[in-house]
This record gives sequence, structure tokens and C-alpha cells, in this order.
Amino acid sequence: MSVNRLRIALQKSGKLSEGSIELLNKCSFKIKPAKNHYLIQSKEMNTDFLMIRDDDIPGFVDSNASDLGIVGENGYMEYALENPGNDLEIIARLQFAYCRLSLAAPEGSGIKQLADYNGKTIATSYPATLADYLNKNNINARIIQMHGSVELAPKIAVADAICDLVSTGATLKENGLLETHIILESEAVLIGRKSAGNELKAKAEELMFRINSVIDAKDSKYIMLHIDKDAVNKLKDILPGCESPTVLHLHGTDNKVAVHVVSKEGVFWDTIAKLKSIGASSILVVPIEKMM
Ligand code: ATP
Ligand code: MG
Repeated sequence: MSVNRLRIALQKSGKLSEGSIELLNKCSFKIKPAKNHYLIQSKEMNTDFLMIRDDDIPGFVDSNASDLGIVGENGYMEYALENPGNDLEIIARLQFAYCRLSLAAPEGSGIKQLADYNGKTIATSYPATLADYLNKNNINARIIQMHGSVELAPKIAVADAICDLVSTGATLKENGLLETHIILESEAVLIGRKSAGNELKAKAEELMFRINSVIDAKDSKYIMLHIDKDAVNKLKDILPGCESPTVLHLHGTDNKVAVHVVSKEGVFWDTIAKLKSIGASSILVVPIEKMM
């Protein structure tokens, strides 16, 4: 299929969609999702966004219905294990939609060690990933596939335990479940085909250049402050990445200077307190949109 228009599959609505759209809009795509729009066209890089269920994204990319996709690593992994010989690859980790796939058992069930899962029934939406983990760890358990409300399975005596996505752990707690083992740590990933041609690979690289400049800028801040000339050297202990700051003369004073610096790590309230403790004043912390 021609790659004149780049096709990228995104989750239409759910826990991946907001982060995907925010990231791509920072890359200038201007995506405005609407209820019944399954195709959003952008002039930027001549792109068509296919707005679909997250479960369908790996299959769309693998079968060439889409060129790229943004999906949870857990969804990619499940598809890859279910479809050995697939053509998919992870192009980049995107640093949002962090969660983990974990085994959890009811409090008081006595299931704590991995071996305790032997002979038990486990409900999950990720049967292939769970089966792979159990096989590798020589655990013999029965797997029941559920497409939602997995956390209710032990309550209604459908399963002894569950294997489900966890972020804060609040849902597990509400349902009297204890997380015992993490099977997979997940975040949103950009996927593509290993066998993609050069034209498409070049487009993916262009997209990755944009995405990386947005991700790099995410935690970076541009900091401006006034400080005694003698204290400029102390700044690098407080601001990571401040090896060679821009130092500017301040009109009307000989001992104070203005310093401009990009800090690559988050600037928190304790960072400001430390800056003040070495005599910094007029401190401005400005977000950076892109870093190229
Ligand atoms: P769809 O209707 O598209 O099939 P869904 O209900 O299957 O949606 P969501 O609950 O929106 O899926 O989750 C999509 C993905 O978001 C998950 O596969 C996982 O990668 C990630 N995810 C799940 N829960 C969280 C969470 N609490 N925080 C962040 N990311 C999460
Ligand atoms: Mg889904």
C-alpha cells in the first residue's frame, strides 16, 4: 500500500487516548477527536489518524491497515505472544500510561508465593501474557479469560485469583485483593512493522524526531535568576545539567549577574529553596515546549 499518507492508529477513547492526542498535538498535528469520527485527517506530515479500540491497534499495524500505532506495552505483548511470527516492533517508549500487569489474590486466601498459584484458577484479560509467565516459572494454573471487571472474579467464585492491570492499586484494595507479583511493567509505546520500507521508515523517523523533542522538553525548565558573581559556581550542584550557564551583566551592579540555564530535570519547591539559600533572587522558571 502507498505510504503517501501516513496512517497512525490511536485509541478512540480510554486511558491511552488523552495522552496520545496530547503528545501528537504537541508535535503540531491538531487532532480534535469527535464522537463518531473514526478517521481524523491532518495536513501535518499528510497523516490519517485511525481512531479505534486499543485491542485492535496491534492487528491493524501488523496487517498493514495502519502504518504505526500507539498502544499499551501490555496490549502489544499480548498480541505478540498470541501471534508468533508477527511483523511488529516497538519503535519507542512514550513515557505515559504507566501501569503494570500483576497477579493478585484475595486477602486471607493464603496465596502469597508464586508456588501458591499452582492448581488455582486465575481470571485475566491477558491470557497469553499470563500463560507465558506461568510457563517460564513452572506454575500450573488454569486461566479464565474475561474482557472486563476481572477484579470481581474471586468474589463471584469464578476464579481463585486474578491477573490484571494496576496503576495505584485502589481497585484491588476496594475488592479485598492483594497484589503478589508484577508480571509486566507497561507504558504507551509507538509500534510499527519490522518489514516497513524505506519511505515509511523515514516518515517514522521524522515523527520520532518530533516526539523526542517533546518528551525531552517535558521535564526540562528554562530558569532565569539573579545571583552574586561568586555564587555562580554553586548553581551546578543544585540544577542538574547546568554545566555552562549563560551569565549576563546586570545594569547598575558589579557584583550581581543574571543567569539563564536549562535544567533537564524537574524543578521542585525544594530546588527553589536551595537556590534562595545561595542568594538567588528574581527566580523565573519557564516551561520548554520543544528541545531540538
Ligand atoms: P477500549 O475501549 O479501547 O478497548 P479498554 O477499556 O480496553 O479500551 P483502557 O482501560 O482505556 O482500555 O486502557 C487502555 C490501556 O491504557 C491499557 O491497556 C494500559 O496500557 C493503559 N492503562 C490501563 N489502566 C491504566 C491506568 N490506570 N493508568 C494508566 N494507564 C493505564
Ligand atoms: Mg480494550
